[in-house]
Amino acid sequence: MKNVVGFACVICGTMYPADFRGYVCPDHGAEGILDVRYDYERIGAGFTRETLAADRNRTMWRYRPLMPLATDAAVPPLTIGGTPLYDSKRLAAKLSIAKLWVKDEGRQPTASLKDRASAMAVMKAQERGAEVVTTASTGNAAAALAGISASVGLSSVIFVPSSAPEAKIAQLLAYGSRVALVNGTYTDAFELCMEAVEEYGWYNRNTGYNPFMTEGKKTATLEILEELEWEVPDAIFVSVGDGSIIGGVHKAVKDAFALGWIDRVPRIFGIQAEGSDYLVQAFEDGEDVLTKPAISAVTIADSISADLPRDRIKAMGAVTETGGAYLRVSDDEILAAIPTLARGSGVFAEPAGAAPYAGLVEAVDRGLIGADDRVVILATGSGLKDVASVLKAVAAAGTEPMHIEPNLESLKAALSNERATERNVGHDRPHR
Ligand SMILES: *Cc1c(COP(=O)(O)O)cnc(C)c1O
Ligand SMILES: [Zn+2]
Repeated sequence: MKNVVGFACVICGTMYPADFRGYVCPDHGAEGILDVRYDYERIGAGFTRETLAADRNRTMWRYRPLMPLATDAAVPPLTIGGTPLYDSKRLAAKLSIAKLWVKDEGRQPTASLKDRASAMAVMKAQERGAEVVTTASTGNAAAALAGISASVGLSSVIFVPSSAPEAKIAQLLAYGSRVALVNGTYTDAFELCMEAVEEYGWYNRNTGYNPFMTEGKKTATLEILEELEWEVPDAIFVSVGDGSIIGGVHKAVKDAFALGWIDRVPRIFGIQAEGSDYLVQAFEDGEDVLTKPAISAVTIADSISADLPRDRIKAMGAVTETGGAYLRVSDDEILAAIPTLARGSGVFAEPAGAAPYAGLVEAVDRGLIGADDRVVILATGSGLKDVASVLKAVAAAGTEPMHIEPNLESLKAALSNERATERNVGHDRPHR
């Protein structure tokens, strides 16, 4: 890996050489997550904003010099990355902020940002000659690994809590993974997966353990910065479970800064559900995330339900080193954000994908974000991932279909009825 200097333990800072094959720091075990360190001078010599601008490859692989890959092996055939960033003027106006962009990661092949990490896992598994790749997941990382493995004919074994939304389980089964529905929490699934790795020697994609996942996830933010022509937004909002995506946001910013592509860093805001707020607690109380014990997480936003965020050291650094904040939002606020985001921007997100919008509302209320701010939110996964939650959200918003007979009279009656109700309750409906 010519462009990689080595791997630094997030706890002790020890540097391991670029050819180190372990996943974590041997002295610190599962907590000792490694951070890939690059030779920016070498990278920057041939890889610039101008060479990028001339590159017609719109996938995540356009940032390949900033990836820890040992060979120039072919990439998976699915189109990963290059997702749209929408300038959402109506929502910006509603919030009285200067700009709001929505990065729609629901547009990925398996419909979440996790494709970026799982693509990296598949590349590394192939590089190491692994025949089987595995992960535990609340659902999206699993679906991503299943789909991208299928695209290259690699076998996958997946551990998910049996409570995972049906659509995510359906994806796994359709892609042909061996699926273990674990009767327990994500933490239980994670621990079992780790034991299975030990037993069978499978390639381990687990979030907050495998150091390469952040390096895939960061490409979403590199795309944002590039799309904004390197004019740094004031803040980036992202939902946080294990803390690996937010670590990736930070990593992208650090890479771009080190290469001289940007001249300041955005504030990074981590949004957690009220019932899964480990990092918010630690942030508010100044607690050390190395010693703070796990909580017992409960939230409708399954993708960000984490008792003990695995990547919590990187996750805390992303916020504290950029002057951002950790904010909590209730499940009701998360659900309410789904139709608001869908109606205001056209982006249909699952609960964890809409949560950053709820967090932005909170940040504006608290004066953390103001009228001059240009803000990006990462809509991390598609609304189709969890239809049950969407139906709850629209019911809570008072949106109901019209039940009618198949004739125009019935339609007319229903429409006038609806208008009357609308006047009475003042529904937040899009204008027709
Ligand atoms: C995984 C996931 C998150 C949270 O990412 P972490 O790295 O666990 O913090 C947020 N939204 C969606 C849709 C996800 O799949
Ligand atoms: Zn260490």
